[in-house]
Amino acid sequence: YSTAAAIEEPINPGVTVNHTQLLINGQFVDSASGKTFPTFDPRTGEVIAHVAEGEAEDINRAVAAARKAFDEGPWPRMSAYERAKIILRFADLLEKHNDELAALETWDNGKPYEQAAKIELPMIVRLLRYYAGWADKIHGLTVPADGQYHIQTLHEPIGVAGQIIPWNFPLLMYAWKVGPALACGNTIVLKTAEQTPLSALYATKLLHEAGVPPGVVNVVSGFGPTAGAALAGHMDVDKLAFTGSTGTGKIVLELAARSNLKPVTLELGGKSPFIVCEDADVDKAVELAHFALFFNQGQCCCAGSRTYVHESVYDEFVEKAKARATIRSVGDPFKSGIEQGPQIDSEQFEKILGYIRSGVESGATLETGGERFGTKGHYIQPTVFSNVKDDMLIAKEEIFGPVQSILKFKDLKEVIQRANNTSYGLAAGVFTQNIDTANTLTRALKVGTVWVNCFDIFDAAIPFGGYKMSGQGREKGMYSLSNYLQVKAVVTPLKNP
Ligand code: ADP
Repeated sequence: YSTAAAIEEPINPGVTVNHTQLLINGQFVDSASGKTFPTFDPRTGEVIAHVAEGEAEDINRAVAAARKAFDEGPWPRMSAYERAKIILRFADLLEKHNDELAALETWDNGKPYEQAAKIELPMIVRLLRYYAGWADKIHGLTVPADGQYHIQTLHEPIGVAGQIIPWNFPLLMYAWKVGPALACGNTIVLKTAEQTPLSALYATKLLHEAGVPPGVVNVVSGFGPTAGAALAGHMDVDKLAFTGSTGTGKIVLELAARSNLKPVTLELGGKSPFIVCEDADVDKAVELAHFALFFNQGQCCCAGSRTYVHESVYDEFVEKAKARATIRSVGDPFKSGIEQGPQIDSEQFEKILGYIRSGVESGATLETGGERFGTKGHYIQPTVFSNVKDDMLIAKEEIFGPVQSILKFKDLKEVIQRANNTSYGLAAGVFTQNIDTANTLTRALKVGTVWVNCFDIFDAAIPFGGYKMSGQGREKGMYSLSNYLQVKAVVTPLKNP
């Protein structure tokens, strides 16, 4: 990074915010209380727009609309092919408005525009087309059982799905949730993260243009303890899907259990190991480990945030990792070629700087970075620590920022034990050219995804989710469908001729 290139005047996002109200029953409406809350530009901390603030009463209205759309509306009753066509039209419209959506996403979140426009939006479009493809391929079985019975299973939509999403990938998380739920014929109340309410409102407006009936997808902006908790604890919500921190995951699971025992899928935090073995190509490993940690300003639940490097290549790796972080281009995310924008908000910014201080205090070696970048907004220098020990806070807790922690290991058995010695289990990276080493590690690691010689591959068909306290259930791929379906067994006696 270059401190000389401190952030000048922020670049104009080139898009206007047209939708700030709640979207309930196909209409943009004010919140019941009339309250609004500001959403901020992470580049400057300045207000982008004031957004309607949904609370319990708005959640009630949205759930009532979703209930009616499910119980009486055409959506669960129309042919699956018709539903698929609407989802495909939605994907087409997102594709058409790719650049505006990406600009809104960057403005509200701070991620590099090129990442939003060229990677994330196309992934979202691809994922919706993938689920549109599933809509008319969901069906039950006929089951051979004892006795003279004809037995079939019906795969029915589960009903009203409550969905709570985080701020790090606002539209991508929206698509992961909405795509499979719609394909299965459900209706939805989605609560966006309070830091990033804008893109989901625009996208859902396009979904209505694509022909989704009113009440099928309702979007409520608002805060967690009010709107989010009301949704998680609602008696008339049939299923809850949540992505966010492990602490909040526990809260929503409890709310779901205390209310109507709605089934819950959780995608929570992580502290993913990235293991560089002795036979690894060090240059490639450095680049991939850098990407695994720094991608999206380090704000990824699956970030490779414990970089374990074999002692035989450790010194070379640390030197090169430091050099790579030092040339990472930090700056206005709207500028071409920028790899890293600002962190989402002042709370995260302060939290990350606190972890950096704790790394220094606990005796890790600060190789590069460690401070804020520039004087305005929430930018942080790409930071690398070496000599990190497993019991340091920076090796145990999720930092969610551009801070790489490099640890040394001697042999496979040891690194397996250390990598698994965490309450998280979201993902892992394994870097080796030896197939036996790869096989040993992939089977031994207690995580939902192992990327071997790659990282952050998120094709729509690949399931994603966590072991242990990183979550429950899987999203994406065919696995996500079962989250949104009920199975009904129908048993009929067979009549003898
Ligand atoms: P983070 O700390 O990264 O913001 P959270 O887990 O708090 O992660 O936030 C993820 C989502 O959960 C957001 O939409 C947030 O508003 C929501 N949320 C936060 N607290 C609660 C809560 N008590 N009940 C329901 N949802 C919540």
